[in-house]
Amino acid sequence: MTKLTELREELHACRNCELYRDATQAVFSVGRASATVMLVGEQPGDREDLEGEPFVGPAGHVLDEALEQAGIARSDVYLTNAVKHFRFERRGKRRIHEKPAVSHIEACHPWLEAELAVVRPRVVVCLGATAGRSVLGRPVKVTQERGRPLDVDAPYEVVVTTHPSALLRLRDRGDYAGELRRLADDLAVAAAL
Ligand code: SF4
Repeated sequence: MTKLTELREELHACRNCELYRDATQAVFSVGRASATVMLVGEQPGDREDLEGEPFVGPAGHVLDEALEQAGIARSDVYLTNAVKHFRFERRGKRRIHEKPAVSHIEACHPWLEAELAVVRPRVVVCLGATAGRSVLGRPVKVTQERGRPLDVDAPYEVVVTTHPSALLRLRDRGDYAGELRRLADDLAVAAAL
């Protein structure tokens, strides 16, 4: 059994914070243990929670577009989240995404550390502030720190960029294409490292 398969199985028994109670399941990663680039998102969304796979919902489609523009094959990267259970607020029949608290990010951090130890990527891309907080262990200002290698004491480079879900609300507006290009450019910076 590979280390990642073992981690996936152990993750389903995690009770390190209360988020497991309302979510459907823990959502682990997709990607090869030999990947050199690791992309870290925030948490599973509604679709991901139901399907048990990261980045299969609307934000995942935006990420696919950005990866394609950056010339990166999705199969070449390792995709995971900082927090492995879906945090949401129930409104009627709908489940509305709720940002994970710092306590959730910290409780879930050992899983990300375990993945980093197995995959040993050359570059970690933090998709948004939650991923940045988990990887860097400090608050991150995406607008100020995005798109360049950051000064970190780690065996991998770290690049921060926006989370693809931030682009969803721009979809019907003119700035979507520009923001998608910026996301793709940040991913290309990471890939070039
Ligand atoms: S969110 Fe992370 S720490 Fe919390 S129960 Fe799920 S796997 Fe465990």
